[in-house]
Parts: sequence; C-alpha cells; structure tokens
Amino acid sequence: MALIVQKYGGTSVGTPERIKNVARRVARAQAEGNQIVVVVSAMSGETNRLIALAKEVQSSPDPRELDVVISTGEQVTIGLLSMALHAEGVKARSYTGSQVRILTDSSFTKARIQKIDEENMRRDLDEGCVVVVAGFQGVDDAGNITTLGRGGSDTTGVALAAALRADECQIYTDVDGVYTTDPRIVPEARKLNRITFEEMLEMASLGSKVLQIRSVEFAGKYKVRLRVLSSFQEGGEGTLITFEEDINMEQPIISGIAFTRDEAKLTVLGVPDRPGIAYQILGPIAEANIDVDMIIQNVGQDGLTDFSFTVPRGEMDRAIGILEGVKTHMGAREVRGDRSMAKVSVVGVGMRSHVGVASRMFRTLAEEGINIQMISTSEIKISVAIEEKYLELAVRVLHKAFELDQVSA
Ligand code: ADP
Ligand code: ASP
Ligand code: MG
Repeated sequence: MALIVQKYGGTSVGTPERIKNVARRVARAQAEGNQIVVVVSAMSGETNRLIALAKEVQSSPDPRELDVVISTGEQVTIGLLSMALHAEGVKARSYTGSQVRILTDSSFTKARIQKIDEENMRRDLDEGCVVVVAGFQGVDDAGNITTLGRGGSDTTGVALAAALRADECQIYTDVDGVYTTDPRIVPEARKLNRITFEEMLEMASLGSKVLQIRSVEFAGKYKVRLRVLSSFQEGGEGTLITFEEDINMEQPIISGIAFTRDEAKLTVLGVPDRPGIAYQILGPIAEANIDVDMIIQNVGQDGLTDFSFTVPRGEMDRAIGILEGVKTHMGAREVRGDRSMAKVSVVGVGMRSHVGVASRMFRTLAEEGINIQMISTSEIKISVAIEEKYLELAVRVLHKAFELDQVSA
C-alpha cells in the first residue's frame, strides 16, 4: 500500500463543484489501494481578499494578527473537502496546521516548519481515513498561529510527505506540469516530463510560482518524490522533479525561462570610490533584513562612482529611507529608486557543458532593442534585469532563441 500526499491549489478548490471534483479524485486514489493525505489551499482569491480586508483596518497589519486572519481561508476548504469526501462515502477528517501540530518558528507571515507530529495522521490513515490538512499554516512554540509565505501550501504538502515518508507528493494545480516558461505568457511553452531538482530550485527562486521555493528545498533535503500535475485532467503523468540528470537523454542547454516583476533598482550616485563603500551601502540594508539580489558598481571617475543594486519591489521605499539616512555620512550625492524593473533568467544544467549561452541571450535581447541593466550568473542560470515594459517580449524572444518551443529528443 502506497502513501501519497496530494496537494490541491486555490483554483482546484475554487468552487463547491471543484471541491467535489477533488473529493472524487481523492476517493478514486484511495480506492486504488493508497493511503491519502490531502493538503488544500484556500479557495482562489480568498487569501488576497483576506489580506486586503486586514489592510482596510490597519494599513500595515500587525504580523501576528495578519496570520490569524489569513490562515482562515484554508480552514474553510479543509472542512468543505472533508464534507465532500463524506458525501462520496469516504471516511475523512480535517486538521488545521495547529491541530496536526505543524510546529514552526515565530516569523509571522513567513514562518519555517521545524517539526511535524505524525501521530494523529498515522492513526487516521490506519483506520482507513483520508487526512485533510490545511496548507500554508502552522503553530509556534507559544501556540501562535503562523503562516508560511505566499504559495506556502506547496511547502505544507512536501513537508508532510517528508515527515510521513510518503511514496510521492503530488502537487495538483491548474496547469498539467512544469513548463519551459509560464504558459500564460508564452502559449508555445512546452510541458517538461522531467526537470532536475537543481533546475526546479532555480526556476522557483527566480520567479516561477508553480512551486514555492521552500517546497523544492524540502523535497531536496528529504529526497521527496515530487510531481506536478493538473487537477482538471485525467491520467496525465505531469512533471517529475528528478534528482539525477537523465544521461540517456540529449540534455537541452536551457530547460526553462523564469521571470519576476517583483524588482526595484536603487542607485547611489556620486559616492567616493574608496574601499569599504559597498559595505557602507549594503551593510545597513542587510541589517534591515532586506534581500539584495543583483549588484553593480560602475567604474569610478574623478574619485566618484555610482553603485546600483536590486531589492524586492515592496522593500524599495524602506531601502531608500535607509540610504537617505546614511547618504551624508557616506558623502554620496543622490539616492534614486526605480520600481519598474523586472528580471528574466534562463536556467539549465546543460549550461555546464556548453559555452555561448550568455552571448546568445544578450544578442537576442539586443536585437529587440532591450537594454540589459544588470547581470548575474551561477553555474546553471543567467539572469538579467531589464525594464518591466519589455518583460513579456524578452521572455518570448528568448524562448524562441533557445528553441524551447521545439520538441526535444
Ligand atoms: P496553485 O493555486 O495551484 O498553487 P499557482 O497559481 O500557485 O497554482 O501556480 C500555477 C501557475 O504557475 C500556473 O497557472 C502558471 O501560470 C504559473 N507558472 C509560472 N511559471 C510556470 C512554469 N514554468 N510552468 C508551469 N506553470 C507556471
Ligand atoms: N492560500 C495561500 C496563498 O494564496 C497559500 C497557497 O495557496 O499556497 O498564498
Ligand atoms: Mg501555488
């Protein structure tokens, strides 16, 4: 008997009819002789609605109370799905994160899972019960409700699969797998049958929200067999996240293109070009817990230089405030912010054994007149920061230039 964790996202449980559809799928998977743990998200749009509601009451909501509010979306869907399972004649019991005891740290709105109690779930499974768990939430040591960050139900699913040593974790969503890029932007995008764990980690961290980055990290750490599939389609194989590169397959150079609009650029103009300047600028930013992504220091002239870096867009105003505070002390002339930035990345393990990926990427963008403002690379990815208005064009032309629309061998 296999133990399978199935996670269904917001669109898949977006209406009562769709919840009934999920119940039928779960019932079938159990009837095939499996033990099933189901993790569900809130109904689509619900988490956004709850966040907006909180902001109407307090413009920058208290994080502890915000988690109390936004965790309720998932509580509704676990109850509804359990009822739908009962209607299918299946024994089912729902649990919130705190009822399971998904223990997290106390970083409200972005908590990390530390430990999961298996006891209740094992007992139910042994009784032939389907266990329905609320995604996205946990509880800290002091009993406070926490949430795991947007898209966090993926992480709940993989973490439960790791804790229960499940045979597979299946992430059911509104696309039938991981594509070469977001199919909403490039209709020619192709579904990948397999993607390496390393590539998936890069894709997720560079903006492909089909899986939350932490879920991929968990899968890597605990070697969880992870698959992405459609909840609207019957019988597809989806995309398997593999731990080995498939040596029998002609590896494409690039496996996928990821992108994000969530970028802002800060530039400090006219700073004295002397040792320690990067530290003087980025030190206070790091202390404020703001993630810095790409960095550029221009060649100095007349003893002065310009220094630019990118941060998540939502952090731009705070970062400007911090830099304005230290500007005089640094002897800088001006601090500028630009929130209309985007980042496009090409990802592929094939890059390790091929040269010329960067030049092909840069030439393709140049031919479209798209200016590259910053570049960063790792062994298996190249990212560029560009103006947001060129984002969709950039993704489309790169997808074509790397022949991702062609069926691979
Ligand atoms: P869920 O609510 O099921 O968690 P999400 O909206 O979080 O679903 O993730 C699925 C969406 O991710 C898809 O509808 C698609 O638009 C988007 N997406 C972004 N990049 C990719 C990709 N490379 N492959 C597949 N989907 C992608
Ligand atoms: N409901 C949460 C969100 O919208 C978690 C999730 O769907 O994974 O971010
Ligand atoms: Mg999601």
